[in-house]
Amino acid sequence: MSTAIERHARATAGYDQRLAQTVLLLQQGAAAHPGRIVLATSLGAEDMVLTDLIARHQIPIALATLDTGKLHAETLALLPAIETRYGISVERFAPRTEATLHFVKSHGEMAMRDSVDLRKACCNIRKMEPLARLLADRSAWVTGLRREQSGARAEVPFEDTDDAGRAKFNPLAEWTWHDVWHHIASNGVPYNALHDRFFPSIGCEPCTRAVSLGEDFRAGRWWWEQSSKECGLHVSAATESSQEISR
Ligand code: SF4
Repeated sequence: MSTAIERHARATAGYDQRLAQTVLLLQQGAAAHPGRIVLATSLGAEDMVLTDLIARHQIPIALATLDTGKLHAETLALLPAIETRYGISVERFAPRTEATLHFVKSHGEMAMRDSVDLRKACCNIRKMEPLARLLADRSAWVTGLRREQSGARAEVPFEDTDDAGRAKFNPLAEWTWHDVWHHIASNGVPYNALHDRFFPSIGCEPCTRAVSLGEDFRAGRWWWEQSSKECGLHVSAATESSQEISR
């Protein structure tokens, strides 16, 4: 089986310019929000690129992730890998134990497959509430959103404002999937082994599957639903009615 690097890494026109622009945006964000800016990392390929750039250029941006309690072992393995490779620890924000126990007791371990409402309720407990704590003392956050990822993300700006008024930086907005893997390959960036197994977008274990050739980038997320492949982490109140709530 070929690796994700073999399949996707390709130097394309404009990569060096996009890279320089990304580093500049990260540096500007850190300067504008000293001690109050965080990379909310999903530990996916894009966020590993950002982790590499933050560490390589010693940009003062904290790293934090949502440990939903439902992540693959391959995803969790990146936490010690980041510490070993870069000497940076990633803050972990987990859901409230009572809330998850109550939800599972009331609706079952696989309730997210039973209805969109139960899936959203699970995402609220395991992602949205921990995200609120992750962001509580921050005035800005950084994401790995790219315009190419899906139609819902086609107009992602470099800089945005979330519903709470925080600055939200999307410095990889213009990067291609080839750029992401070219950077990973060129710099020896650690990445999730699931990417080699045809998981382009990785969320919780029960809600993520591999994609087939020709399938959309996010087709493996909540694949049993017909709605769009977003979970709420990157959906504003203004657009929530037309978009489902994504790691
Ligand atoms: S992605 Fe699935 S398991 Fe994870 S929080 Fe959402 S519904 Fe729950």
